[in-house]
Formats: sequence, structure tokens, C-alpha cells
Amino acid sequence: MKNYIFIILSIMLFLSSCGHSPEKKAGKQKTQDDFEYVVDRFADIEIMRYTVDEWDQLSLQQKTLLYYLSEAALCGRDILFDQHCKYNLEVKATLYNIVTTYSGDKTNDNWHDFMVYVKRFWFSSGMHHHYGNEKFYPGISQDYFKSLVNNATIDSTLFLENEDKLSFALRITDIIFNSNIAPFKSVQDAPRGEDLVTASAVNFYDGVTQREVEDFYANRKKNDKHAHPEHPASYGLNSKVVRNENGKVEEMVYKMDGLYSKAIERIIFNLEKAVSVAENDLQKTHIQKLIEYYQSGDLKTWDDYNVLWVSDVDSHVDYVNGFIEVYADPLGRKASWEALVNLKDVENSKRTGLIAKNAQWFEDHSPIDDIYKKKEVKGVSAKVINAVQLGGDCYPASPLGINLPNADWIRKEVGSKSVTIQNVMHAYDMAELESGLVHEFYYSDYEIKLAEQYGSLTRKLQVDLHECLGHGSGQTMSGVDESNLSNFYSTIEETRADLFSLYFIADPKMVELGLLPNEEAYYACYYKYITNGFMLQLNRIDSGSVIKQTHMQNRSIIARWCYEQGKAEKVIEVVDKNGKTYIVINDYEKLRELMGKLLQEVQRIKSTGNYVAAKKLVETYVTIDPDLHQEIKNRYALLDVAPYGGFINPVLLPVKKNGEIIDVKINYPTDYVEQMLRYEQDYHFLK
Ligand code: ZN
Repeated sequence: MKNYIFIILSIMLFLSSCGHSPEKKAGKQKTQDDFEYVVDRFADIEIMRYTVDEWDQLSLQQKTLLYYLSEAALCGRDILFDQHCKYNLEVKATLYNIVTTYSGDKTNDNWHDFMVYVKRFWFSSGMHHHYGNEKFYPGISQDYFKSLVNNATIDSTLFLENEDKLSFALRITDIIFNSNIAPFKSVQDAPRGEDLVTASAVNFYDGVTQREVEDFYANRKKNDKHAHPEHPASYGLNSKVVRNENGKVEEMVYKMDGLYSKAIERIIFNLEKAVSVAENDLQKTHIQKLIEYYQSGDLKTWDDYNVLWVSDVDSHVDYVNGFIEVYADPLGRKASWEALVNLKDVENSKRTGLIAKNAQWFEDHSPIDDIYKKKEVKGVSAKVINAVQLGGDCYPASPLGINLPNADWIRKEVGSKSVTIQNVMHAYDMAELESGLVHEFYYSDYEIKLAEQYGSLTRKLQVDLHECLGHGSGQTMSGVDESNLSNFYSTIEETRADLFSLYFIADPKMVELGLLPNEEAYYACYYKYITNGFMLQLNRIDSGSVIKQTHMQNRSIIARWCYEQGKAEKVIEVVDKNGKTYIVINDYEKLRELMGKLLQEVQRIKSTGNYVAAKKLVETYVTIDPDLHQEIKNRYALLDVAPYGGFINPVLLPVKKNGEIIDVKINYPTDYVEQMLRYEQDYHFLK
């Protein structure tokens, strides 16, 4: 599973709901480390960079291993384009030909709009929106597009039999512009009973119906003589289902000498190189097992590989490479190809380790009533990693965390790896600072400085405390469960976990454990939380509506409850400066006390299953002041903030002497188009 939860928790705090107005761009802000994180901005997307700060401390062996795994991560690039839609590879090749050989004017608006389409196409690995599934279209005329094709050198192998360039131009234009051709990538629900397989453009099936696919796999399962009752194979994970020449339904397996062989051979080639520089025997063994799987396509081997991979918790270098997630398949069976090469973040893994180790201390010192405290707490620890290379379905829109493998029986019997990707999260934080949002909405230089100094650090810590401890803390009275709070349960539970993290992030214990540098650092987290809960998040809500989303409800509860409770002592003030509303926090320690008080109350509600109290708390704070709402929307509209983000990969460059790698250099390019053109040139293996 990919973890996008953190997006909701953090980045989305600040992201607009697409209501931006690109012409009225506010000044970009520099971040304190002077590295430019956001390097491109088009349509609803921004392109960022992430860095691998520990690179120079790595051994030659580790660098070389990362290099080969990264090559393997890039070699499957074409597979994903083809999986998303059967037209994608020829459209991709055509766009490449135009971008590199078109002889006409490349300075006018038409060309600019064409390039926006090309970048969106690359970003989504195809013609459909990476998030929304719907097909998107170029903002240019069909005639202009045809003129681009006609004035470029088009690879003639793209032409069908008896097709000349003119008729090719007509056909490819139709594929791109015709809204009846492949309108949706993946149709996942069918209110009118449509056939999900035929309604979806996704290329996991060809010439077959949903019913035929379902029957095919029901039979496969029934007839599997070697099936293990407790260890079911992931039937259909790595194949396309088609109707063959004789009209029979059959599978084409993704493997060497099977479907996508040309790309898979390159993946295997680089994995073999990686084996030769593996860090230890276990790592060597699972990479070898992965090679074996790519050679045979055998799903039993895939499971064997995952058992080995999940057992490897000590290696510094790790990777994901294969057909993994099934979100794109309307039937939830076929996996998209993805890759992620990463390094264990030793420093930050210490943070989650420390928190988990002290779980009992936190429980004992929680401000909740003693009867609701757990006598024995088990902390959840998760590894923190840094991405070194993103590939396939992880590129350029990277997840912020992953939890693999997906096979339930392996998760239960052997375990799973749960990781958060630190450098990618950091890049998002820095991009947020660059966006100008903080300068627009924070009261003074003092709060801006806090955000720059401690914003990123405290956010990570808050997320860790929320995830590792918050949800697991406390206990309910016997006979009480989620159903007592009914539809208010999630909001109460998220409020509780947030309050737990907010209360403890301000505890001197944080400094004592070395998790925060001083006793004021948490101010950054408090200021951001209250400002967001009170104002910023309103931007994502339609005018006239109430707050409906769980996390937004809980932030509103905490921000506004503390504001009201501390009003007499002016703990939090809402002030007007030059006609704009700002939050001022006058007493951070008092605010912490209020959070502790609310935590005590919310824990009591959960532990006793008090529906009436839960309902009252939630319903009091879901309403919105219409004037403030409009003001926030107006101020957001002046900023150019993208709802979706993705990344340029670092480039790993081997330095060779007499054919031997003697060093691997890393650099961080800034040009998204250049990276895409290079990938098209170096990693284009499928027709
Ligand atoms: Zn949560």
C-alpha cells in the first residue's frame, strides 16, 4: 500500500483547491538553505527536487549498488505508459519527435500550450490525469497539432501498414483530441451496471469483458493443483488478459520472453549488476529471487521474493521494483509497474525508535484521567528512508510512505515494511515556504522565522507522535467501542491523536530526548496548526458549505475550542492588520494547557462512548464564518499554489577508470523537460 495519509495531514493543509489564478503570481520566497525546491509549474502541477544529503558519506559499494538499482528503476518506464492505455506509447513517441525535431516557431503561445500538454502527458504517464483518471486535452487546435506533426520528423515505424505521414497525423490527432476515444483510464464503479473492463482505457485487458475476466480467474483458482490453502497466490497480478486468434481468453504474462520483455531484460541486466555489489547475503538473495521472478513470471516465486525482502531489515540500501499496486485496475487484480530506490535515514529512524521506546513514559504522563490510561503500551516503530530514485508509478508523483508487501498472508505471518520518505516530505515543506503562503498568512516576521527554522522538523515529529503513539494511547471502558460514537467516531479519534501529539511536542521531554533543539521550537507547530485550523483550510471548502472532512473537522475543533476557552486571558487573538485577518498566539504555555484539557475531555468521550458529547463538540465547530471564508479564498487566489506535486530525480553519474566504477557522482538537475527527453532517449525499450 502506498501511504498518502501524510498528504492529507500536512501538505494539503496549505494547498488550494485548484482555484488559483496563474497570472497573478505572488513573489516566490527563498528557503533558508538557498536550494531551489520548486523548479517548474504548469497546469495543476508543480515540479520539485529532493536531495540525498548523505550521499558523500556512502561507501563506493553502496553508491554503486544505488546506481544499478536506480538504472533498474528507470528501465521499466515504458511499461507503465503502456499499462495505462494502449495508445500511450505511440503518442509518447510522437510527442518526443515533435519536441526534438519540429522546425517551426517555438516562441509563440501555441507552442507554449502544446508543451504544457506534453509535460502533463509525461507527468501522468499517459493521456489521463494521474489523480482524477479522466482524459485531458491540449489547449491548442487540432489544425495546429497536425501542423506540428507535419513539420517534424516522425519515426516511420510508428506508421501503420499502408499509412503515410498525412494519414498518421490524422489518426494520432484523433487519438489525442477525440473525447470518445479512451475517455477514462479506470472506471471503478458502475452505477448503471456498465462493464468496468470495457469502460476503462487501462491496458490490462483487450477484447474481453468483465464477466470473461472474472470467470477466467475463478477457473484459474479452482484448477490450481499446487495452491496452498493459507498462502493464496496473487492470480493475475502480472499479466494482461486478451482474446487470442482462436477467440479464446488467455493471459499474456509480463516477463522475460513474454509481454514487456525488452524492458524487463534491461531491468534484469541492472539487477544482476546490483547483485555483484550487494551489501550482504540476504540482500543478494532477494535481488536474485527478483531476477528469477522476472525471468519466469511465476507468482509463487514472487511470494518467495517478498518473504525474503520483508525479512531484510538491516540493509542500509533498499528498493521496491516490480508490479506492485492494483489501484489502476478496475477489478483490483493487475498491478502497475513501479520502483523506488532508497537509503535508510539513520538519524531520523532514531527519532521514531526513540518515541516508540518511550511509549510508556508518554502514556503515564498523559493529561488524561488515570482510569483511561493503558497499563502496558506497545509502541509502533517505522523506518524512515530517503528516496534516491523514483520510477514507474512512483515517478514523478511520489508517495510519502509505503507499507509492503501487499499479500495479506505475508503481512500476517512474516510482517511488512512501513516506511516514510523523509527527503520527499522535506521537499514539500520547503516548497510550501517558497510558495509565499507563509508570508501571506503569518502575522509577523517572528512567526515566519519560526516556520523557517522549526516548521519542517516539528511537523515530522508531530506526525510521528500522532501515528506512532497518539492512536494507540488510552483505553476504553469495557463494552464501549467505535459504534457508540457512530458517525462522530473518526473525528473524535483524529482529534484525540492530534491533541496527544500537540500536547507532547511541547513537553520538555522532547528536548531531553534530543528530538527538539530547544523549548520554543514547538511554537512553529502550534502557530501553524491554529492558523490552519482557524483559517487556511477553509480555502478548500466551497462557499456556503460546512466543514465535512474528518481531519478538517478535528483541526477546527482544536483551534476554535482553544481560542474560545482562552479568550478571557487572550491566549489566542484574532487580529485585523490592514484589512486582513491574522492569528496571534500570546501565551504558548497556556495554549498547551488548554490542549491538555481538551485531550482529557476528548479521551473521556471516547473511553465512555459519550455520543451526545461527541455530537455537540463536532457540530459546534463545523460551521464557518462566511466573511472570513471569503477573505481566505480571495487571499489564496492571489497566490499561485499547485494542488499536485511531483519530482525530478537526481542524476547518478558513474565515474569509470579502465572500465571499473571508481566513484558515483550525484547532481540535481532543474529542467523537467530535459530529464524527460533524456529518459525517452536512454530508457525507451518498448514499441
Ligand atoms: Zn490519524
